Amino acid sequence: MFEYSGAIHMHSIYSDGTGTIEDIAAYANETDLDFIILTDHNNLKAKEEGYERWFNNTLVIIGCEINDMQNKNHYLAFGIDEIVGTYKKMSCGDLGCVLSAIEYINAIKNKGGVGFIAHPFEKRTHIPDHPAFPWLEWDNKDFNGIEIWNHMSEWTEGLSDKNRIQRFLHPLKSIVAPDEKAVKIWDELNNNRKVVAIGSVDAHAHKQSVVGFFEVEIFPYKILFKSVRTHVFIDKELNLDCRKGFEHDKNQVIKALKEGHSFIVNHYHGNGKGFRFYAEYDGGFYNMGDEIHFDKSKNKMITFKTYLPKEAKIKLIKNGKCADEIEGLNSIWDSNEIGNYRIEGWQGDKGWIFSNHIRVVDVNKKS
Ligand SMILES: [Zn+2]
Ligand SMILES: [Zn+2]
Repeated sequence: MFEYSGAIHMHSIYSDGTGTIEDIAAYANETDLDFIILTDHNNLKAKEEGYERWFNNTLVIIGCEINDMQNKNHYLAFGIDEIVGTYKKMSCGDLGCVLSAIEYINAIKNKGGVGFIAHPFEKRTHIPDHPAFPWLEWDNKDFNGIEIWNHMSEWTEGLSDKNRIQRFLHPLKSIVAPDEKAVKIWDELNNNRKVVAIGSVDAHAHKQSVVGFFEVEIFPYKILFKSVRTHVFIDKELNLDCRKGFEHDKNQVIKALKEGHSFIVNHYHGNGKGFRFYAEYDGGFYNMGDEIHFDKSKNKMITFKTYLPKEAKIKLIKNGKCADEIEGLNSIWDSNEIGNYRIEGWQGDKGWIFSNHIRVVDVNKKS
């Protein structure tokens, strides 16, 4: 298994970001990102203009972020060759998709794409120009996952008149943990089907006046690339097989995201490379995102193992509740109970690593 570190969800000059694809890719290279996924609003222009390719050691994948005509239900779509639906100007002047959220979720799925709900519970009060864009369509069963941690949303939600300058000057320090409501619904949804979590930066590099005296670039790409990342696991090494080339590499990354063979790390608190969470059961090996078909009649235990790249407070979360907590580098647990198991790694009171679930389902009720 090979592990790759990526930054997901960012905007370029093809929507409301300020960076060119070349600039953003260069920052990604400098910060040792193996892949980045661009998600400009409601378009795939960067892909159409040939920017979806390897830039030195960084795989640049172009997806998009779609919103409806009410500017709600922001949805990240990866792995589609052309945009779905048609787009019209909303009252604010920006574009919106004429399809409903449920229609674009299904259209993306039908085209073989993969989709993640963006910043589902966003709320903002301190930047009137940038209102919140929450998710409202929870009944749909066809989205692949949820962005449980969005740097820009968390940073903006915590903003107050008192901490404003501190937060602008130190955009990485103020980030604590994934959104609690998003984590809760993610755990609950996994009781019925696999729903994958990703973490993202939502980078724009907006330029804004802070106190009226000077203009700063909010969340420069290069700074944000050191914050919330999503790491994926892939069977074969990328960029080695020239015959298969870029499309093959891209598809491997998107497939790993779809399967949940991935975890989220706030890189600011330490490089997540080397983190592992897996299970052994009845001669099989199961990674994050996998499903174990548990047969109680066999009388065999499942063994969960985790390793972290540096010491942390390690929590085993089962069905959304903390089942065990230790300080250290690794741990082993045995279980013979169905449920959804995942790991959290904390550095003090700051969230660091959040794995996807290993889902243990009754062999007679498997999906
Ligand atoms: Zn958005
Ligand atoms: Zn965005």
